Parts: sequence; C-alpha cells; structure tokens
Amino acid sequence: MGQALLDQAEHVLRSLYGYTAFRPGQQKIIESILNKEDALVVMPTGGGKSLCYQIPAAVLEGVTLVISPLIALMKDQVDAVNEIGIPATYINSSLTKAEERKRLKDVADGNISLLYVAPERLYEPSFQAALAKQPLALIAIDEAHCMSQWGHDFRPSYLTMADWIDSLPEKVQVVALTATATPDVARDICRRLHIDENNQHLTGFKRTNLTLRVLKGQKKTAFLQQYVEANQGVPGIIYASTRKEAEAIYRAIDGKTNAVLYHGGLPEKERTESQEAFVYDRADVMVATNAFGMGVNKANVRYVLHANMPGTLEAYYQEAGRAGRDGEPSECMLLYQAQDVQTQRFFIEQSDASEEKRKHDFEKLQWMSRYAHTNQCLEQFILSYFGEDAGEPCGKCSNCKREGEQQDVTRDAQKVLSCVVRVKERFGKTVIAQVLTGSKNKKIEQLGLDKLSTYGLMKDRSAKEVQAFIDFLLAEQYIGLTPASYPTIQLLPKGAAVLKGEGQVYQYKETVERT
Ligand code: ADP
Ligand code: ZN
Repeated sequence: MGQALLDQAEHVLRSLYGYTAFRPGQQKIIESILNKEDALVVMPTGGGKSLCYQIPAAVLEGVTLVISPLIALMKDQVDAVNEIGIPATYINSSLTKAEERKRLKDVADGNISLLYVAPERLYEPSFQAALAKQPLALIAIDEAHCMSQWGHDFRPSYLTMADWIDSLPEKVQVVALTATATPDVARDICRRLHIDENNQHLTGFKRTNLTLRVLKGQKKTAFLQQYVEANQGVPGIIYASTRKEAEAIYRAIDGKTNAVLYHGGLPEKERTESQEAFVYDRADVMVATNAFGMGVNKANVRYVLHANMPGTLEAYYQEAGRAGRDGEPSECMLLYQAQDVQTQRFFIEQSDASEEKRKHDFEKLQWMSRYAHTNQCLEQFILSYFGEDAGEPCGKCSNCKREGEQQDVTRDAQKVLSCVVRVKERFGKTVIAQVLTGSKNKKIEQLGLDKLSTYGLMKDRSAKEVQAFIDFLLAEQYIGLTPASYPTIQLLPKGAAVLKGEGQVYQYKETVERT
C-alpha cells in the first residue's frame, strides 16, 4: 500500500478533524480500504464509523458515494464534513428540482468528494449521468444490515443495491457499515456484496466502563423499589418488555424515587414530556419499553436495569449500552425470570414473520437465555457473540465476581444428558425434569416415560432445581433447544463428549446470586 496515502489519512485526522489518534479498529479499517480491499465494518453506534469512509473520501481520487436510508441525518453529516473542509453534498427528496440540478452539476464537474444519497436515487437517469462523469473512488453502504432479511430492519430498497453495484461498468471498491450485525447477518451482507469474509472488521463493542450483571431469584417489585430508593438522584433507565409491565413498575416505584414513564401507548405529548424530564435531569428514573432510547442523547445514565429479558442479545446490548456514554463507571443489570423466556417466545409466535425467520428468532432467544445462565464472564460472552475478540475476563461482571467454588457436577450432567438421549430428543425441559425427579404426573406414565432407566435418577432434587440445572447445561452448550414454539432438547457435541466420559462439567455452588 502507499504509505503516502496512510500518512495523508493521519494528516486529515489531525489537521481537519482535530483528533490525536485513530481509535483501535478505525486504523485497520482505513488501512484496508486504502489497500483497495472491500470491507464490512461492524461497530456499535458512537464507535466512529463515519470516519472510516470520510477519511478515505478525503484522500482518494474521485467521488465516494455514501448510501444511507436515513435522509433526515444527511444534512447534518454533510454540514459537518463541509465545515472541516471536505467537499460534500447530498441529494434527496427534500431538495427543490433546481437545487438538485445544481448539486448534480457539482458532482459531474468533479467538485465533490463525498456524496450522500438514499438507495432509491441510484436508479435515476439524471443521477447516473452525473455520476458517470467522474471516477467512483468508493461506495460506502451505511446501515448495511438493512440488506439482510435476517437483520431486524430489512429494506427492500437495499436488496437491489448489490445488483446496481455489479452493473457498474468497472468494479468499484465497497465498504459496508452497520452497528448491529450478528454473525449470520454479517455473512449475508458479505455474500451479497462479494466481500471476502476475512475482511470483516468487528470492533468497538467493548465498553470497559460498563459492569454487566445478571440477577436471578429476586422478588422483582421489592428489588426495584429498594434499588431506586437506594439510588435516588442517580439517573437510570428501567426497561420492561410490555407496556403493561412498564406501567406496573412505574406505579410500584413512584414515591420511592422521581420516575417518569415512556411507552408507545402514551400520547406523543406525554412521551415528549417524560423524555425531556429525564434528559434534563428533572427525573431520576425512566421506566420504559424499548420504544424509548433511539436517538436519545443522555450521557450520564449510570445504570440500565432490565426488569425483563429482551428477545435478543443485540437488543439487550443496545439498550444496556445507553448507560455510561460519558465513559464513567455504570451498571447494566438483567433481572432474570423464567417467565420472560415464555413472553419472548410468545412474541415470536405471534409475529407474522416467515417460518424461517421465526426459527432464526428462536435461536437468537436461546443465545439471550444462555447469557442469563452462563458461568462465563458476561463481557466475554457478549463480545464473542458479536464476533469480536473476547480478550481476558473482565474481572468485574457478576460472573467474574461470583463468590464460592466451582464444583464438579459431571455426574449430574451425565444423568441429564443420558435422559435426553433416552427420550430420543423428543421432549423439552419440563418433561426431562419430571422424568429425572421421578414425577408421578399422569402424562409421564401415559407416555411410558416412568419405565426409562433414567426415571427418578435425581429424585432427591426438586423439579425446579433440575430445570435450573438444565438451563445451565443449555447455557454452556452441552445441550441445545430446537428453534420452535415447543422446543425439545437435543444433545450437542460437547454434551456427547461428557456422556462418553471425555470431559468434566463445573458449576458454581451458589447459582442464585443475592444482593
Ligand atoms: P457512528 O457512526 O459509529 O455512530 P460516529 O462516526 O458518528 O459514530 O462517531 C461518534 C463520535 O466519535 C463522533 O462525535 C466522532 O466525531 C467521534 N470520533 C470518531 N472517531 C474519533 C477519533 N479517532 N478520535 C476522537 N473522536 C472520534
Ligand atoms: Zn467478567
């Protein structure tokens, strides 16, 4: 690669942006772009994605085309880069015809380095004609997850974009960017845009100022009341998964603290009032559904407490990540109740998504539940879920901090695993627990499951305890759930190994953390 280009890039960073250094990740990405490699960038919101194409745009010959569905944000972005001296413009439906013509002429005349458009624009003849007059340096596709039907925001206008790029007379370098791609969405984007999978850059998910905690076995209302009372004057968000639940929590904690409520069922005026009271520090606690948060800029949120488990780790981490934007130490807590899994399952069942998409959603839900039950460092768990190098255990999450010894539970694990095999992987958690505890339930007898050699193998335990142990084995991937409304338990390779005596299972003695 031309070292000269890279030097120029650093010069632009310092002299135009006024920053002292690239963030980790940015440097590698920009190097790879200047090295003429296509790239996929997955970086959370606020991570610094824009620089990854703006700086190449400033140093490369020709036009960098930025495709984004967010028309409302184009003006601000273009104003900001123009201000520091990178010639940029946008063309979208908000412009008059005369203004549009003027801008197209600027593009055709070679006065523009950065050009922002929405995907629909690509097919307009006047746009194509202007673009054809200048070499294209780079195509940056923002919000690239909109391209994948596995993503949570699929847009049909994004589907044809890859064809449009393929139809260009010459191969143009591509960089796709998104804040929220799971490994499968990332793979899908790479496939559509012919990006080498080795050119995925997953970075910036680590937020060292956040402490992650999973709390199990709490009496929810009492816990929340106590928590907010002890944290008066400290800004925090409590997320609930339904409007009803948000209302109930709001009623329960109001009086213990200064709280406001926000969900999609409230009139716009009330929502605005709640949001402003919270943002301007007139209220301490925001009780909300996931309708709250997008585009809300409040840097000093000290905790995000999920009173219910969301359906995916993407949703969880995005919401939890609203804590500590100012870089100060902050907490992200998940209150886990088994009931929440049912609620999320219900949401998936009720959705009108395709069978395949639903299967996918069930799998994502399973990852979310694994997070709630794993013994692993929670930060490492999340980072590896997003495909980022997990590094060392964080040393401060509720798993890293867990007191007590790990105990060898291999024998118990083998009992569960062999029961899964004996029932031929046809049943779920409840039935397996009933069989193992020797339940006298009619259904168990009718199915002849009381004749199994594993029947009653764990009769010294309660069904609830055994279910919790099964959750643990699911979290650690000894077993897995089928992605269905009524999931059955299947043996995974790691579990098969334990059954064969090739591996030990360890679990913390104290599985229920108390605060
Ligand atoms: P994203 O598009 O990933 O949400 P942005 O590109 O808007 O993030 O960047 C988020 C913030 O971080 C912006 O205020 C930006 O100016 C700032 N930023 C980005 N890169 C750097 C850097 N290398 N040094 C300092 N600040 C940076
Ligand atoms: Zn940890």
